[in-house]
Amino acid sequence: VERTLAMIKPDAVKNGSVDSIVEKIEAAGFVVVARKNQQLSAAQAAEFYAEHEAKPFFGGLTTFMTSGPVVALLLEKPDAIKDWRALMGPTNTEKARAEAPESLRALFGTDGTMNATHGSDSFISAAREAAFWFSGDLIK
Ligand code: ATP
Ligand code: MG
Repeated sequence: VERTLAMIKPDAVKNGSVDSIVEKIEAAGFVVVARKNQQLSAAQAAEFYAEHEAKPFFGGLTTFMTSGPVVALLLEKPDAIKDWRALMGPTNTEKARAEAPESLRALFGTDGTMNATHGSDSFISAAREAAFWFSGDLIK
């Protein structure tokens, strides 16, 4: 089995969508191995999204990601990384609604930046992001 790091972003937490999203995650066959509720500081958001530092949307992204609490989830399932990205759908909520109407971003997202969920995009980023949120036996 494989693990990946998911976050429920501040828009979906504020909307009251956390329980609905977790239900869909479990219905899709993922096990929630660990869960943490926390508001990120500006420094933490910049560290988490360091790969996007030079992108034009970086400021908007980190402002959004520090605007309220997020729920970090360590998810386990065969092919967890790929399958979680598929369950989330396209990055942009409008595109998700057009192309993958059952996806989490289509159902719970707001727009191009406020898109309800995050998912690690590779084995290496899953390891880095899991270690950002969790420690000890959880990230062995
Ligand atoms: P995530 O990393 O959150 O799972 P992703 O891998 O689909 O999403 P990335 O390219 O890693 O997309 O972008 C990280 C986040 O930055 C997106 O989820 C979204 O919140 C925001 N973002 C990405 N592209 C844009 C854009 N063009 N305009 C505004 N915000 C964007
Ligand atoms: Mg990404």
